Amino acid sequence: VRVVSFRTGDPELLREINRSLILSYLRHHEEVSRAEIARKLNLSRATVSNVINDLIVNKIVTETGSGDSALETGGRPPVILTINKLDKFVIGVDLGTTNTVAAIANLKGEIIEKIRIPTDRNHSVENIVEQVSNLVTQIVAKANIKSEMVIGLGIAVAGTVERATGFIKFSPNFNWRKIHIGQALFDKTGYPAVVDNCTRVMILGEKWFGQGKGFRNLFYVNVGFGIGSAFILDGKIYNGHSEFGHLVITDEKIRCGCGNFGCLEAVASGNAIERKINEQLSADGNVWITAQMVAEKAVSGDMDAQAIFNEVGNYLGRAISYVANLFCPDKIIIGGGIASSGNLLLNPIIDSFNTHTMETVKQNTEVNLSSLGIDAGVYGAIALVLNEFIFSGTHEILGKASNK
Ligand SMILES: [Zn+2]
Repeated sequence: VRVVSFRTGDPELLREINRSLILSYLRHHEEVSRAEIARKLNLSRATVSNVINDLIVNKIVTETGSGDSALETGGRPPVILTINKLDKFVIGVDLGTTNTVAAIANLKGEIIEKIRIPTDRNHSVENIVEQVSNLVTQIVAKANIKSEMVIGLGIAVAGTVERATGFIKFSPNFNWRKIHIGQALFDKTGYPAVVDNCTRVMILGEKWFGQGKGFRNLFYVNVGFGIGSAFILDGKIYNGHSEFGHLVITDEKIRCGCGNFGCLEAVASGNAIERKINEQLSADGNVWITAQMVAEKAVSGDMDAQAIFNEVGNYLGRAISYVANLFCPDKIIIGGGIASSGNLLLNPIIDSFNTHTMETVKQNTEVNLSSLGIDAGVYGAIALVLNEFIFSGTHEILGKASNK
């Protein structure tokens, strides 16, 4: 835990900061006492007690009884504190154009129920909002909790999103322009919703629950049908725009969806894998081979399929070497649907990465496949809503939720 010393005349702000520090400490440590928090965060006992009492009243923290060790030594037993896992819940929704995944979790981020359904083909805002709303109702029933125990929704969606307002400027996948999706979901479900771009949400999922835990500088690549990317710099998600998938990686005149030639996405995405294998097999007839089928062929020893994965891995390895040389992240995580291909993909990526990356950079930057895979989106949506409504302490929105 980094302790920030803060000079301010604003007691409210100071209290917010202390509250966040204390909650963050509780999130990362299983069972702790008030005294331990005060000691580790360098705060006064009175300050800690003050914040903790407030968190207990709001059912965010709970007392789980006394520690034993002090009893044995004859001292007064400290009361053990933990994040309350029974009284408040959040729902994360990964809103994809093909599938929508919803999960409900307690305040520790432990998932209680998860539902995956095909996204309705009618992509009108009203229709999708209706579908998400039904999914929310369904998952609350499945988790067998009272609806007022849910404090909010976290939504991951493709496109240009303003996280602070839940406003989608443009989502090409849904063909949405200027949509207040957060407001629409709040109006329909009664739950406040925080919305962000799906790849930024995925890197948040990796940071809280996956390969990114404990690292301050991360680069995440989402290799699905297309290729997306996100950064965490000095522990903070970079909210600006990036187009890693459109780095030009080859002089071959392969047309990309963006209109340019030779982009990474044109040669190393799920879409590129499918195009390549189906071109090769076009003489054989009319069965469309999916990227998943190519992976299965490669695993079972098919040389042509293996060659495709080698080539894709090569391009990805070279492209992430550019990023590594640029800002030397602690870790680069390759996620998305393709992460399930395992060493078939990772080996050529690592070979190519090692060939193209500077020695000093290589020593600092680890390259991994995501352990969360396509679930990074729904995990990240849980982290998004927990962070917004609990751990960063946005009291106003909490009040709105509890008044419903
Ligand atoms: Zn492109």
